[in-house]
Amino acid sequence: MKNIKAPPDEWDCGIQLSRIPKNASPHTEAFRLDLPAPISHWGQEYEPDGPVAVKLTFTFANERILAEVSVRAAFYIPCSRCLRKTRIEATGNLKYLFSMHPLKDAKDSDGAAIPEEDGDVDVIQVDSFQAELDMAQCVWEALLLSLPERALCREGCKGLCPICGHDRNDGDCGCRDDNSDPRLAALRDVDV
Ligand SMILES: [Zn+2]
Ligand SMILES: [Zn+2]
Repeated sequence: MKNIKAPPDEWDCGIQLSRIPKNASPHTEAFRLDLPAPISHWGQEYEPDGPVAVKLTFTFANERILAEVSVRAAFYIPCSRCLRKTRIEATGNLKYLFSMHPLKDAKDSDGAAIPEEDGDVDVIQVDSFQAELDMAQCVWEALLLSLPERALCREGCKGLCPICGHDRNDGDCGCRDDNSDPRLAALRDVDV
């Protein structure tokens, strides 16, 4: 099983434009997408625990389509201290504006105006709208951005002993890490 670094080929995220009303009333589509393999990101593997729940809300007005992307998924990643397999829940939201014109007078699905330079919205300039809007790349981006860089198996995980590799959550291994604190080492040196 090879890790994936791009939206899986199997993902069908084509949205028929004819389903989005032209009168600025929001249109929502919700579906699930399978992840056929772990995701490679942040230098580690995110092993999927079930499909990705996707919600897309489109608002079509003034020859622009605002797409609000929500994703939710669960993964297993190694605890950043003890490497124990740890379940995480990832949720993310991203907004894309497909526009044939510069950003002006655009509104989101709540009717709130989007400022000219809104860092929350990725503007995608298009020459024309095709019959279908492929959202696979947008969903993939939202999913990657939702992935936490690290996780702890539990609050206060004691991690691994740097000398013998023992999982300190399972008890003390008896190793003494004498060189761990240079200030203590300096104190020992003056102990005559
Ligand atoms: Zn841990
Ligand atoms: Zn040890």
